[in-house]
Amino acid sequence: MRLKVLGAYGASDAEHNLTGYLIDDWFAVDAGTLTSKLSFAQQARIQAVFITQTHADHIRFSQTAGPLTVFAAKDVMELLISNVFNGIVWPDFSTLISSLTNKPAVIYRALTPGKKVMFEGVGMTAVPVHHQIPAAGVIVEMNGQAITFTGDTGPTSEIWKRTNKTPGVVAVVTEASFPNDQQQLADDTAHLSPNTFGEELKKITVDAPVYASHRKIPYERDIESQIRNLRDRRARVLLEKNYTL
Ligand SMILES: [Zn+2]
Repeated sequence: MRLKVLGAYGASDAEHNLTGYLIDDWFAVDAGTLTSKLSFAQQARIQAVFITQTHADHIRFSQTAGPLTVFAAKDVMELLISNVFNGIVWPDFSTLISSLTNKPAVIYRALTPGKKVMFEGVGMTAVPVHHQIPAAGVIVEMNGQAITFTGDTGPTSEIWKRTNKTPGVVAVVTEASFPNDQQQLADDTAHLSPNTFGEELKKITVDAPVYASHRKIPYERDIESQIRNLRDRRARVLLEKNYTL
């Protein structure tokens, strides 16, 4: 699998981008950076996006992209439709028929947590995680390989149990938003610090790199050195670059 990390931060500026990942150029996980880091032609190649949660840093869609299938866990999808694609923040794209394809610009597919669905040969299992609002990560299976994306989460467990049982896991992408000296803030906002990232690592039994994404920009150096200090060879910082897994 080719994993293009478009954004690996929980904030953005000229050199840092919001959460967004692209697998093999056509399947996206979270939409923080789809519009700002990809050409319009590259955006047009995206057929599906899985949204982990509705906070604004994960849902910067392009108005003209499509046809696009938007996947999310059921409760996340309800929030997306009522709070984002509600005709106020964004149009309800599912009711707009594209003049190019004669199909809706966007198709919503709500997923039952824990149940694997297939789309164009890709397996997707939404698994709830622990955030301030309903949120679900996803295990993406493609050509015998799998990547787990938690999205934003505090300490959690179900997605690790599912990951441990999934064959061919080549990477886990989770988060470390705040440095260790801000543990209280991390806990209060349902995020991880390098310390709690280290605790989560103990629950993961697969032998694959576990990446810390969603770092808050002012603390990135601290977070990066604290991840290294965990002295676990699986613990990595996710960089905004292309990975071949
Ligand atoms: Zn976020």
